[in-house]
Amino acid sequence: MLIDEVIKGLEKFQDYQKHMNTENVFFPTDAFIQTDEFYEGKCKRYLYYKKKNYIPDKFDYSTLLKFEVGKNQEQSIIRALQKQNMWIDNNIKIYFNYKNIFVSGEVDAIIQSDLGKQILEIKTGEGYYFTQQIIYGYKQDPGLYRDYLVDQYAAAPKIEHILQTALYLHYFKNITPKLYNDIPITSAQILYYDNANGLFKNYILMLKNENNYNYIKLFTQENDQLLVVPIKNITVESILDGYVDVYNSIKNNVIPDKSYKIFYNDVDLDLYYAEKKLTKKQYNLMKEDNMERMDFHCRYCVYKTQCIKDSWFTYLRVSNSQINLFWRRMIYLFLLFIKIYILITLISILLSYFSLFNLPKFYNKPTFYENYKESLIEDNIPLTFKTKYLVFFGMFMLYNLAWFMMIPASITIIRNYVSSK
Ligand code: SF4
Repeated sequence: MLIDEVIKGLEKFQDYQKHMNTENVFFPTDAFIQTDEFYEGKCKRYLYYKKKNYIPDKFDYSTLLKFEVGKNQEQSIIRALQKQNMWIDNNIKIYFNYKNIFVSGEVDAIIQSDLGKQILEIKTGEGYYFTQQIIYGYKQDPGLYRDYLVDQYAAAPKIEHILQTALYLHYFKNITPKLYNDIPITSAQILYYDNANGLFKNYILMLKNENNYNYIKLFTQENDQLLVVPIKNITVESILDGYVDVYNSIKNNVIPDKSYKIFYNDVDLDLYYAEKKLTKKQYNLMKEDNMERMDFHCRYCVYKTQCIKDSWFTYLRVSNSQINLFWRRMIYLFLLFIKIYILITLISILLSYFSLFNLPKFYNKPTFYENYKESLIEDNIPLTFKTKYLVFFGMFMLYNLAWFMMIPASITIIRNYVSSK
């Protein structure tokens, strides 16, 4: 009983979803970046569902409890900074306008460090990839490709934390001086704590203004020295323009394309493993259907159910928890068959029309073909309604029959296609 009540109570923690969920107001935690080369961060479609108040799936209580632990750790770190007289302020709300949208967020803290007045963003995590990516970097091939990094071996913050912190810094560096005649804050720190190993790591983030664009620059601090963490070109303006793009979809009621793949077939799995978008472990688990075959953003997405419903074909393919592999393949095969049949029917109709107008000419005037070759236009041959109908229907059936006779060949082609997936 007690445990049930605790779980129910924890599940109520997520009833904050609608807070400030205005269509044109975006949070820095919802940032994403789309370049010609890569897409990283929140999914555009996720944002659409969120802003349109679609019903989200619920987090389980253990995830919610992890969020709570993270928040409490944040508070402990802030208290530690207060004791060291580095603390200036915490939980500072920000709000600013960009084109037709607004950005609203809350900065963890402002501190006074040896690098001056800074924004502080605190993050916690654990697990092998967290420790390697954030704390140590990789000595050998990382096994996972990080699009936004120039050096794949380097330790670096997660992309979503970089984007979020860059927006905070943009506010304090570029917006507040204009709005409040304030002294700009020119750098931010992202402080990580690795729960499993009890290790801290900090990164420094700055913005470099070039041609009216604010480029994100990253550094680590070692022995009082700042070392560059090379990342690809990402500007604050491109993050903000991404929000504008999503807002325009919301205004026009157009569901954006999925930013991530919600179903991986066998070909995708092989490709993504080769491109290091999947680890060997993930690849093996997905290949054997022991893990949902999807991008990790989708696996943890609270709008997954809605998104699958909006992709009906995908729905049949991903619902392998309800339908076993055999039936999943059968349905897939059947749908492919129907798709091909619809295509063939359309082609048959077109060919039948063509036949309807030209066959009688061939039949009635043996010279038709000779004239046709010389581009001489033949008069239409008047046909009775019944004859027209018969010619059209007869031809349609003939074309269809031809295809049905090819069914065994089609099935072989389809089977080969499916088994390659
Ligand atoms: S399930 Fe994936 S594609 Fe769909 S909204 Fe969520 S993250 Fe985007």
